[in-house]
Amino acid sequence: MPRLLESHIAVVTGSGSGIGRAIALGYAREGARLVLLDINEKAAAEAAREIGDAGGKAESFALDVTRREDCVAVAKQVADKVGPVSILVNNAGIARRNGMTGAAEAVIKDWEDVIAINLTGVFNVTHAFLATLRAARGRIVNIGSIQSFVHVRTPSSPAYTAAKHGVLGFTRALAAELGKDGVRVNAIGPGFIETPLNAAARANNPELAKTFVAHTPLGRAGTAEDIVGPAIFLASDLSSFVTGSIVMADGGYRTI
Ligand code: NAP
Repeated sequence: MPRLLESHIAVVTGSGSGIGRAIALGYAREGARLVLLDINEKAAAEAAREIGDAGGKAESFALDVTRREDCVAVAKQVADKVGPVSILVNNAGIARRNGMTGAAEAVIKDWEDVIAINLTGVFNVTHAFLATLRAARGRIVNIGSIQSFVHVRTPSSPAYTAAKHGVLGFTRALAAELGKDGVRVNAIGPGFIETPLNAAARANNPELAKTFVAHTPLGRAGTAEDIVGPAIFLASDLSSFVTGSIVMADGGYRTI
């Protein structure tokens, strides 16, 4: 039986860790050739090696998604060394759990860092790969959040909520603009997923996970693997008439 992503070249940002790494491995299992981008070059290289060891094809490149010129340079390198990209997953992100009322310097730093990585980074990488994605009638999958809709009841930063709202807005605007080119643009809204992103918060504040799980109909935290199925769906022909949507993979958090 043909695999779902055979003959695709897929770029995943932030794929050295957590959700991005799981998506990259899942796409490789479905036959895609992977391009792993991460600010943590070593982690991306390790993930690429894991894919290679399992019989897949993967290359890794160091990339800080906030550096617009580097995004353009990496897109050129990928075109030259790997080939035409048809799938882009904008996953790289950071989380901060500080409100607006702390010391001004820290509040401003949170805003600048989170918006630069979680929102402008999505723009930078998408813009850099746009020509190839249009030529390939490709697919873009952006990683949003519950916070694409609400500010959660656990500590978080307004910057993170604003950035994830922005990711959903960007997804919808781009879907509307690129539909005529056959490019589909969708998002995934993960719930509380146990990854290195929140490891320190979970360790320092055990109530955090409890609060999330208590509000989650499925009664558990998610794993990075829980996001892989939706990511394959949105990148493959299974979702051929789906664009401008967000698939919530949150255990039902937003339904109650
Ligand atoms: P993670 O395990 O920390 O992985 C994120 C990866 O992105 C890391 O390898 C990180 O490198 C990298 N990264 C950070 N800044 C970068 C930059 N400027 N340029 C390129 N790469 C960068 O986090 P995750 O939980 O898998 O999160 C992935 C995405 O899912 C994020 O967009 C996050 O907001 C979203 N999300 C997560 C959850 C959750 O509960 N985990 C829920 C909803 C949405 P370093 O480790 O070196 O920083």
